[in-house]
Amino acid sequence: MEHIVVIGGGAAGMVAAGTAAKRGEHVILLEKNDTLGKKIYITGKGRCNLTNNKDIEELLNHVTRNKNFLYSAFYSFTNDDVINLMHEYGTPTKVERGDRVFPQSDKSSDVIKALKKFMLSHGVDIKLNAEVKEILIQNNEIKGVSLSDQTIISCKKVIIATGGMSYYTTGSTGDGYKFAKKLGHSIIPLRPGLVPLETEEAWVKELQGLSLRNISLKAIYKNKEIHTEFGEMIFTHYGVSGPVVLSMSNYINDYLKKGKIRVLLNLKPALDEDKLDQRIIRDFEKYSKKQFKNSLQDLLPSKLIPVIIGLSGIPENKYVNQITKDERKKLINLLTNLPMTISKMRPINEAIITSGGINVKEINPSTMESKKINGIYFAGEVVDIDALTGGYNLQIAFSTGYLAGMNV
Ligand SMILES: Cc1cc2nc3c(=O)[nH]c(=O)nc-3n(C[C@H](O)[C@H](O)[C@H](O)COP(=O)(O)OP(=O)(O)OC[C@H]3O[C@@H](n4cnc5c(N)ncnc54)[C@H](O)[C@@H]3O)c2cc1C
Repeated sequence: MEHIVVIGGGAAGMVAAGTAAKRGEHVILLEKNDTLGKKIYITGKGRCNLTNNKDIEELLNHVTRNKNFLYSAFYSFTNDDVINLMHEYGTPTKVERGDRVFPQSDKSSDVIKALKKFMLSHGVDIKLNAEVKEILIQNNEIKGVSLSDQTIISCKKVIIATGGMSYYTTGSTGDGYKFAKKLGHSIIPLRPGLVPLETEEAWVKELQGLSLRNISLKAIYKNKEIHTEFGEMIFTHYGVSGPVVLSMSNYINDYLKKGKIRVLLNLKPALDEDKLDQRIIRDFEKYSKKQFKNSLQDLLPSKLIPVIIGLSGIPENKYVNQITKDERKKLINLLTNLPMTISKMRPINEAIITSGGINVKEINPSTMESKKINGIYFAGEVVDIDALTGGYNLQIAFSTGYLAGMNV
């Protein structure tokens, strides 16, 4: 019997291996680490946001690169299928804010356990500490794979599910890109995706540790509005991070290659200018006999007050009842359009996903098979597909893994 080799025991590889084995294939899964799913283990802050409960079209709307490529995969193995698989193999799930799905236990290890059970129940031969060095090809035909300990495993079909380039201690060191390149595939340049951003302004660093809720961020490149995001963010020693910033990074990474990006932080997106003005007038009436520096505590977190005062140009000791309408207008503008300059993204190793990867034009979207070499399949993050946070990236890994496993 011919073997099928799956390279990579992450989310995509485990689903691919289990699915192919369920069809009666003899599957060998090769994982270079001494455990399966090291990256899954750290997902969702150790809780693993394994998918999202929205309907499929909505899931697709959260894919920021090559969404059309994913239609077959997402409809072949849906979020319900992921949840059912978890339930079948002993990991019940729950739905949280934003339709995010987590294991009921809040333990990512339970997701790994379920995937391992799925594979073992269908007879996948799991080999740990098995690092693939090369895919062996002769006359355009797959002969097998060679491992770093010189072992050769012969096979006719290989699923490459080696992940991306970030958090490399989890095992994703970009090997799949090298294999694919050698097989004649083109690689869309690799960049960090869902990654914190570095800013130029000194005041940003003064706010280190401050997190803000219900804010919006608007990114602008050369007067062109690129994207706006609402939600939470946090200031860090290098710039900004948090959900809004990570999502924003997926929209601006192509522009950042060309130059700096201006982002405007709206601290009060729920209020239009008039309502915010009325709100400030009320506060100024309340604190009319106080100095400006002692009038903003109802409006802003205390850490932000000296920064806003400094940027407003209004003297901090000015009495509130002497602040002019023009000065108030300036303050409103600052609160709704606080500018920051994004100079670069943090390094790829700090990214949640790797943007770029195997060119989707060279992969059949209905089977995940290479259009260049028969018998080579791709699944998961190694492919040039990106999505936002919320369980979408693991759904991509599971769905593409399933499709590869069904067609291999
Ligand atoms: C901190 C963090 C949190 C995240 N949180 C979430 C979340 O909550 N929800 C979500 O949807 N996504 C999340 N992601 C993204 C998600 O983890 C990835 O998109 C997903 O794991 C990709 O799955 P994969 O199977 O393609 O790759 P991986 O999970 O990276 O698996 C690839 C496997 O291949 C193995 N491998 C690589 N090269 C070789 C080789 N030469 N030989 C043998 N084995 C090899 C690696 O050791 C690894 O085990 C998070 C990512 C990070 C970094």
